[in-house]
Amino acid sequence: MTHIYNFSAGPAVLPKEVLIQARDEMLDWHGSGMSIMEMSHRGKEFMAIAAEAEADFRELLAIPANYKVLFLQGGAHAQFSMVPLNLLRDKKTVDYVDTGIWSRKAIDEAAKYCQVNIAASSAADHYTYAPTQDEWQLNKNAAYVHYTSNETIGGVEMFWTPEVSDVPLVADMSSHILSRPIDVSKFGIIYAGAQKNIGPAGLTIVIIRDDLIGHASSYTPSMFDYKIHADNGSMYNTPPTYGIYIAGLVFKGLKAKGGLAAMEQANIAKAELLYGYLDSSDFYSSPIAVENRSRMNVPFTLKDASLDELFLKESHQQGLLQLKGHKLVGGMRASIYNAMPIEGVQALVDFMQEFKRVHG
Ligand code: PMP
Repeated sequence: MTHIYNFSAGPAVLPKEVLIQARDEMLDWHGSGMSIMEMSHRGKEFMAIAAEAEADFRELLAIPANYKVLFLQGGAHAQFSMVPLNLLRDKKTVDYVDTGIWSRKAIDEAAKYCQVNIAASSAADHYTYAPTQDEWQLNKNAAYVHYTSNETIGGVEMFWTPEVSDVPLVADMSSHILSRPIDVSKFGIIYAGAQKNIGPAGLTIVIIRDDLIGHASSYTPSMFDYKIHADNGSMYNTPPTYGIYIAGLVFKGLKAKGGLAAMEQANIAKAELLYGYLDSSDFYSSPIAVENRSRMNVPFTLKDASLDELFLKESHQQGLLQLKGHKLVGGMRASIYNAMPIEGVQALVDFMQEFKRVHG
């Protein structure tokens, strides 16, 4: 049987060992006689699973003690409104950096609650790079600064952490969290939907500095108030229990593989393999500025776009799935998250070479 490699941007490939363990534990978790899906979220078994998942996640990212980790729902989309609802306090304006479609969505949502200052934007260059700090026009009275550290659709990643003095820095890390070490202490809030590097869709993780909790605007729905979730240990309502369990298995696997420094090395090797091939070829190209090329999401185009459909059909026949670029940008996109082995990237490069040989 052809080996399958799934290049989906999310929900995305999960580590095979995690799926195998989940399968083995599906009907009877550790002799409890029950599946995790059937357990009370307040029972001692699940409470232990959630606590261990949080502890492992904290260890992986070296999260300082003055930060809470919240296991929420609603995806990163819910964070687009939760952030302004909780962080505005008595301020009127917020700073957003506009590097692509996901920043844009965050901006449009925040604009419902306050005045959004676009501190920098690469829209005029079709979002092919991320503006550097010297291009950012920050407002010192802003309630916070928001940016999207990896644009999943555009494939634009920022490998540096912005300096924003004492204004809280908020980052949407949905599509690169856990792919490399991060200095959490530089951030006020980090949020990420799970369905790329963490686990199944339905879980959203928020890392929030303690002093930013407890300032929600008075009209904030309870479900959108960080304090309510923090005070209730992420169990104000029924949490996505199975997603938390799978995330916990993913975290254990990352620790066993050497943690985020090891993941970073593996991700660099995969990205170099693919971008190296794109650069060496005049048949394919990457539209993204070299310093912002995402290690997670690699958009590329064929010189002759009339071959796109054939490329997708033949790659699919070779077991290379979900390579179609997002409908808003076209072309191709290979998402090569933590769980994509280098063999998958090599198989893609081999296919691309062969496709070029036949059709180039
Ligand atoms: N931000 C980024 C960077 C994303 O990649 C995505 C999902 N692809 C979202 C936000 C939205 O996430 P969700 O669909 O979980 O709300």
